[in-house]
Amino acid sequence: MARAKIAEAGPWLARLFLALSALAIALAAPGRAAAQGLIRDAEIEQTLRAYSEPLWVAAGLNPADIDLYIVQDPSVNAFVAGGQNIFVHTGLILAADTPNEVIGVLAHETGHIAGGHGARRSQFASNQAMGPMLISLALGVLAIAGGEPAAGAALISGSQQFAMSSFVQYTQAQESSADQAGLSYLEQAGQSGRGLISFFNTQIRPYEFMSRRMPPYMMTHPFASDRVEALRRGVEASAHRDAAEAPENLQRFQFMQAKLIGFIRTQAQTLARYPLSDTSQPARYARAVAYYRVSDMARARSELEELMRQDAANPYYQELMGQILFENGRAEESVAYHRRSLELAPNEPLLQINLARALREARGRTGADESIDLLRTVTAREPDNAFAWRELALARNERGEVALAELASAEQNFALGDYGLAMSFAERARRQLARNTTDHQRAVDIIDVVRNSMRDGQRGQPGRRPR
Ligand SMILES: [Zn+2]
Repeated sequence: MARAKIAEAGPWLARLFLALSALAIALAAPGRAAAQGLIRDAEIEQTLRAYSEPLWVAAGLNPADIDLYIVQDPSVNAFVAGGQNIFVHTGLILAADTPNEVIGVLAHETGHIAGGHGARRSQFASNQAMGPMLISLALGVLAIAGGEPAAGAALISGSQQFAMSSFVQYTQAQESSADQAGLSYLEQAGQSGRGLISFFNTQIRPYEFMSRRMPPYMMTHPFASDRVEALRRGVEASAHRDAAEAPENLQRFQFMQAKLIGFIRTQAQTLARYPLSDTSQPARYARAVAYYRVSDMARARSELEELMRQDAANPYYQELMGQILFENGRAEESVAYHRRSLELAPNEPLLQINLARALREARGRTGADESIDLLRTVTAREPDNAFAWRELALARNERGEVALAELASAEQNFALGDYGLAMSFAERARRQLARNTTDHQRAVDIIDVVRNSMRDGQRGQPGRRPR
């Protein structure tokens, strides 16, 4: 957690935000809570993917093709953008009463993907004037990722708010079709469709007659009574309508909510929801996060030590302990926890970054070799992960590999959509790297792509990174 970033989808996503920001500026009502950005968190991503994958498979989609993004925004919303990207607001996760409600929404959004709804929309229009906003947003995200949440939050609130809720709008016919498709995926996955109905009833229906305060999910998913009636009929006809929640789904849900509450709400709110008398693991987890956020390290560590004693195999307990130590200037002590978290959740890119960063910070050049190995694995799997590229540049510098550090910085800026900086770093790398190497070719490729896009004047067009 606290590794919010914009990187994964790179320039494409950055531009999506720009396009959305324009809408947000135009539409944001006064007093409306500002969105705060994307969150990367290995545990929550794992949970949402575990909920979604059976649905994606039922829909005939390849899970590897679908990206899931967590948006830190208190409003209740989820939507699909740019084809196969599902965005879920933290507000929706926290508003849900059961995993089945979240799973129902994910099934509905999967219905939009499988139906190709909105796939041809091209609102990612270029807007040169918004360039500086992109940069400040990216810096904010990176500052948070770099363990400076306060600085990051300030940078982000200094940039324009971006509310994606006003972006994607479907017709009633598309909504109904996504509902019915979603129901069939739920059925195939052995899930009840009741969560969809209860989500409508608790989250959407109360707003039916007060449209001025309509929640974003209702705006982006136009609501009609006959749609809910059709859903209800479909649920009643389904064989799995009374399927119980899988214990594992329930447990994941409790940890996901606890973590988000600890990270997003105030300490007082977290302690009200999870009083000291509650000694369950999710409650201790939420409190550990809340204490950590107010720098009450003694209490945070005490809750975490109890959690690790109860479940030594939970990678995210280890991760949080490592994060607490790292951010309190104890990088060397954090190494063992980050290493353990990675042993418990092998090949998890975000945990690999944690360990790589701790090794470099704690051991400098001595730690750089392992750090570089880890980061190269991450960037191979997530080539648009700007934070991983930044860490790789730092580790290359530790080893005195200036040209490779500059190439990594070119990648970082390319991923962030800052083509000017990407170009200048790539130029410097190209001049120093030996010809006929893949690194040299990579620098040339970045230069070519940036040059072409500048020549075409299509800065705002969604494009993929060169490969
Ligand atoms: Zn919808």
